[in-house]
Amino acid sequence: MPDRARFEGPSDLHLHSTHSDGTEPPAQVMAAAHRTGLRTAALTDHDTTSGWAEAAEATASLGMTFIPGMELSARHNGRSVHVLAYLFDPDDAALVAMTDRIRSSRLDRARVMAERIARDYDLHWDDIVAQTSDGATVGRPHIADALVARGVVRDRAEAFSSILSPGAAYYVALFAPDPVTAVSLVAGAGGVPIIAHPAGRSGLLPMPLLHEMLDAGLGGFELGHRENRESGVRVLRRLCDERDLLVTGSSDYHGLGKPNQPGEHTTSDDMLARLIARARGSAPVYA
Ligand code: AMP
Ligand code: ZN
Ligand code: FE
Ligand code: FE
Repeated sequence: MPDRARFEGPSDLHLHSTHSDGTEPPAQVMAAAHRTGLRTAALTDHDTTSGWAEAAEATASLGMTFIPGMELSARHNGRSVHVLAYLFDPDDAALVAMTDRIRSSRLDRARVMAERIARDYDLHWDDIVAQTSDGATVGRPHIADALVARGVVRDRAEAFSSILSPGAAYYVALFAPDPVTAVSLVAGAGGVPIIAHPAGRSGLLPMPLLHEMLDAGLGGFELGHRENRESGVRVLRRLCDERDLLVTGSSDYHGLGKPNQPGEHTTSDDMLARLIARARGSAPVYA
């Protein structure tokens, strides 16, 4: 196990860059984390590892520890489930095939949503392309930014509560694996899977499904997250205590795309040490 002092906190293990739907490139995200006093940070872009190299270079020069990560899309009964994945092998063939498939479905889906929106609003596919960095994982936030640029809505939040909401006629679901498959893929790539914001507005996933995910290699839960509700967190904390699971806390920073600020929730040194000890797919990058 690496020297404890090398990964002393505070640690924030959930941040997004322009490689998915954050508004800042990886180096800038890591600089923002550093400014708030963080010593360890993970980059967890949706369904891609393409930002790792830039983030690792930035943390090294800032004297921070970098934890390679990703937020893998999954879906259960039409509901989106996010599986945070840490320290996995970025070249694992099965996981790469899955993220390739998800990203390509996201692109198709964004095109269809754009066509539907264009029937009612002055919005074109080029507007969305203009809001998306080359090669980035496309998501509704990019459509939101295009709507903001067109003056249709004020910000991402307004877009999500109107035109982009799943209840609106413009909405198209993206392809994503079921949560048990997602967890198995991450574990199979030597990584540690953690359910992101597991006690959000849509409530807890059914307990039998959580147990299936634990059997498939789920490591724990992100109990520190602004979208979690206290009642759900209480239930999951009991489960974590009973089964000695990992508990993380993180910001889910998206630059200007969300109010979330680096370090608003953090992960304890003890939990980080356990997460690192459990992983076999890739290593933290120490300064
Ligand atoms: P998608 O992956 O295309 O389904 O879009 C979901 C992403 O949009 C999530 O990763 C969130 O980070 C982001 N998101 C969801 N709701 C909001 C909101 N109200 N404001 C800003 N971003 C949001
Ligand atoms: Zn996001
Ligand atoms: Fe998420
Ligand atoms: Fe996220």
